[in-house]
Amino acid sequence: MTEQTNAEVMGFEAEVSQLLHLVTHALYSNKEIFLRELVSNASDAEDKLRFAAIADDKLYEGDKELAIIINVDKEQKTISIIDNGIGMNRDDVIDNLGTIAKSGTREFLQALTGEQAKDNQLIGQFGVGFYSAFIIADKVIVKTRKAGDKPENGILWTSDGKSSYTLDIINMEKHGTEVILHLNQEAEEFLDEHRIKSIVRKYSDHIPFPIKMLTEQDNDGEKTLEFETINKATALWSLPKSKITDEEYKEFYKHLSHDYDDPMIWAHNKVEGKLDYTSLLYLPQNAPFDLWHREHARGLKLYVKRVFIMDDAEELLPLYLRFVKGVVDSSDLPLNVSRELLQNNKVIAGIKSATTKRVLDMLTKMAENDKESYQKFWDQFGMVIKEGPAEDFANKEKIAELLRFATTQTEAQAQTASLDDYIARMKEGQDKIYYITAENYAAANNSPHLEVFQDKNIEVLLLSDRIDEWLVSNLNEYKGKQLQSVAKGKLDLGDLANAEEAKEQEDLQKDFADITIKVKTILEGKVKDVVMTNRLKNSPSCIVTEDHDMGANIQRILKAAGQEIPNVLPVLELNPKHPLVMELNSRDDAEFAQWCDILLNQAILAEGGHLENPAEYIKTVNALLIGK
Ligand code: ADP
Ligand code: MG
Repeated sequence: MTEQTNAEVMGFEAEVSQLLHLVTHALYSNKEIFLRELVSNASDAEDKLRFAAIADDKLYEGDKELAIIINVDKEQKTISIIDNGIGMNRDDVIDNLGTIAKSGTREFLQALTGEQAKDNQLIGQFGVGFYSAFIIADKVIVKTRKAGDKPENGILWTSDGKSSYTLDIINMEKHGTEVILHLNQEAEEFLDEHRIKSIVRKYSDHIPFPIKMLTEQDNDGEKTLEFETINKATALWSLPKSKITDEEYKEFYKHLSHDYDDPMIWAHNKVEGKLDYTSLLYLPQNAPFDLWHREHARGLKLYVKRVFIMDDAEELLPLYLRFVKGVVDSSDLPLNVSRELLQNNKVIAGIKSATTKRVLDMLTKMAENDKESYQKFWDQFGMVIKEGPAEDFANKEKIAELLRFATTQTEAQAQTASLDDYIARMKEGQDKIYYITAENYAAANNSPHLEVFQDKNIEVLLLSDRIDEWLVSNLNEYKGKQLQSVAKGKLDLGDLANAEEAKEQEDLQKDFADITIKVKTILEGKVKDVVMTNRLKNSPSCIVTEDHDMGANIQRILKAAGQEIPNVLPVLELNPKHPLVMELNSRDDAEFAQWCDILLNQAILAEGGHLENPAEYIKTVNALLIGK
């Protein structure tokens, strides 16, 4: 038989080349992870075949014993990882081994610092997957054929990991994939079988497929080569807790998550009764790079009776818990479940609400018992938890309990105060939880709106994450206390204000009635109203939005996102005890107008706003400074 070769040279996608360069140049300290990654891919491929074969038994092609084989060839200096899983056709190979389908890659590449130690850490968190082969190999060959395809449709992929790869067609009797690594000079240590075995046990002991190696056996003095299974090959989560060491839990986490670091905590539960399932849930220590890609939430794998079904975690956990990694294995679902079926499935819905509760309980306990760890968790994942109250109405209060904020009484911008801490520190007569939102911490912390609260020593939450606006619009109250923006509506201190102050306020409004009207006329079209306030202590002016209007900060965020928003005029509040306001009346008309502009523009600037005409403002101020 003559075989025609159709070798084609293909270029890697630019991002792959960049990643490959990094992998080969930066990742030297933890070389052994290549094996974890390739074994994990082989294991995924076996999982996929088993799942596909539920619908079509022929895909096994008569070989139902799913296993992974590792061959070490000392002479050729190669290591091969062979699986009899799903395999790939030509398009699969081009998509999977020539591009980076993974989300978050760009963010990842941008996050790199150029400092080797730090970057290694980052790469570990990112999980380079297949491309990690080039850490130890200067040439990688992949032979693969998709289960169910004809033998002549095998694909040969070859690359030196630089800028291109070649594709060719080969004959492959068996379906599955063989990855052959030609080790580079610095990687020859991996030709030692003991080394390979120990790496497999370290990372892959509990993947649910046997990993086999040919080893020399001594049968009564007669030496033979036999396949030996070198891992335990039991699904870790199916074992009783008492049989699993912490070390095993941690390594299984690394297998699942591709994380270098240990998990923060985990919870392993066998649930029996109305629903029958096992869950093993992990919280990572560090946020992954694709945390912000809500559409790619993966991390929780669904198994049915030990058969992998899917890793679209969204059906199993709400999106605001998308950082959770782990496994859910149910005995109540049919093996031939389709994705569509899962979407409206009572069992899945039941598992989802139970796992959600489980994760929230884990977090609540950690917050109570180990404040330091919880704080670390919050610093990494707090922003995602803040999506919770909007997404998960049923658990709103429980999520709110977990929130942490910077406030006017916490140290610097660290988000350390809980709403319960806040309530415990509330002043007598205070019935609201006050907050301010701004573009950044400094703008929030220095906002003129805080002056009266500082004066009365009332704590205010300082909200400066983008998600905070979304949070407060979905969290109107906590434990019966209303959340109130200090920059919206009339200042209402409730019982915190005393009668004397109220009287004084009323008098001021009267005394300044004429000036108020005059300012309002001059600023016509720029403000909705002008009022004298007792909200301010040091600043001459501030702007507030009316209760039912959109706040200034959210307006800025929406504008920056390119959204059209209705033009909302602010209310200008003036401090009648400030010299600039007191002396307004003694200005001539021209200067009065200039001062009005300045008072408004200062108020906008003070809360982090942008002036419509900054140059004009500078001109006005400068003219006044030199007295013209
Ligand atoms: P990930 O495993 O996170 O998807 P990888 O870089 O490890 O990323 O692998 C990329 C893709 O290549 C996989 O998603 C899979 O589709 C394909 N692939 C890799 N190895 C194999 C294999 N042994 N069998 C079948 N497909 C594979
Ligand atoms: Mg992989």
